[in-house]
Amino acid sequence: MFDYLIVGAGFAGCVLAERLAAVEGKKVLIIDKRNHIAGNAYDFYDEAGILIHKYGPHIFHTNSPDVFNYLSKFTAWRNYQHKVLAHTHGQYVPIPINLNTINSLYGMNLNSSEVSDFFSSLKEEVPQVKTSEDVVVKAVGRELYEMFFKGYTKKQWDLDPSELDASVASRVPTRTNKDDRYFTDTYQAMPLYGYTKMFEKMLSHPNIKIMLNTGYHEIIDEINFRRMIFTGPVDEYFDFCYGKLPYRSIDFKFETLDQKTYQRTGTINYPNDYDFTRITEFKYLTGQKHKKTTVVYEFPKSDGDPYYPIPRPENNELYKRYQALAAQSETIFVGRLATYKYYNMDQVVAQALSVFKKIKQGNDLNLNRGSVINISQDNE
Ligand code: FAD
Ligand code: UDP
Repeated sequence: MFDYLIVGAGFAGCVLAERLAAVEGKKVLIIDKRNHIAGNAYDFYDEAGILIHKYGPHIFHTNSPDVFNYLSKFTAWRNYQHKVLAHTHGQYVPIPINLNTINSLYGMNLNSSEVSDFFSSLKEEVPQVKTSEDVVVKAVGRELYEMFFKGYTKKQWDLDPSELDASVASRVPTRTNKDDRYFTDTYQAMPLYGYTKMFEKMLSHPNIKIMLNTGYHEIIDEINFRRMIFTGPVDEYFDFCYGKLPYRSIDFKFETLDQKTYQRTGTINYPNDYDFTRITEFKYLTGQKHKKTTVVYEFPKSDGDPYYPIPRPENNELYKRYQALAAQSETIFVGRLATYKYYNMDQVVAQALSVFKKIKQGNDLNLNRGSVINISQDNE
């Protein structure tokens, strides 16, 4: 008899498995339909011996000391500040848009206060910021919106920014200084030996049993457990009874090249050319020294593994219907797919820690009622 059956061995499932076993002494069975742990953060060494991320580039960043300190029990870190260039109008310029971006693009030599005036001269009045288009045109106007956001967003989501919640484009700020880092969170670091090693350490507890290559339908009738924690897609759990919740998927194309480096920075975004959105070169992220290099191209698509919930009003409404079912269920729903939230890794860890706290307090009756977590993202 297990105390908990945890479906999904990503951040949500593994944090809860670890806490329940290590702190509460619970017996946990964690399963995953894939042949590995670590969920979408899974990394491994490819044929050339380069550490790569199977489900696209994962860069860890957080403002939460609790999350950082918690994960630090299972890994040492390598400091890493991610930088991204966007290829637009024949140039490679920093994104998020900053002072250097504008000076390069327009051949100017503005200072911070002048660039702020420049943005003011370009920006559009928006009575109420509702969509991703609103966010960007209100900050920098239509020309820059079209150079950097419109095409990228269309490729990534197959939607115009005007059809997506403001929260999506709000992930990318606008700056009047020269800070060319993608994130400005307090903690920015990569697990020194990779994500998978960190997850292995989380799960190495005698009370935790792991079963891979196992969808939960295959074992649900065979296994005795007191309570289930589900971290897969919430619509799938309820047999799509209200219809499918839209998720966005991606084809990852990896290429190993017989050269030390391929591009000038960790990621280059291509808002307007090609079918892929961005190219990431893993050695920048991991700091690995190797005579070859591996890059990944991301080609967004609608079918395939569900990677991104799609934040827009009708999807949020549909999710609310599933959430109402979840609120009446004994099962606990945690994570990006199970709570249909465009969460970063740190937000999922924070959500799982918060759920654990409630379980520990015996206050778990209302776990599925309402979103549990809201740790700040740096939108500046
Ligand atoms: P997941 O990692 O998806 O884990 C859920 C697990 O459940 C999966 O392993 C799945 O196989 C399993 N599962 C589902 N259904 C079943 C079933 N029926 N039976 C058994 N198992 C099942 N976040 C960042 O902070 N920084 C980044 O740079 C970053 N980059 C990203 C890039 C991409 C391309 C993507 C897609 C995501 C990125 N993220 C990033 C987000 C990050 O991946 C998620 O926040 C995090 O992995 C979510 O963890 P989770 O446990 O909720 O879900
Ligand atoms: N975005 C864009 N152009 C860019 C970078 C981002 O239009 O150069 C928009 C796009 O809609 C994207 C969203 O901002 O999906 C969030 O970007 P982020 O880099 O956070 O995406 P993720 O890493 O989660 O895929």
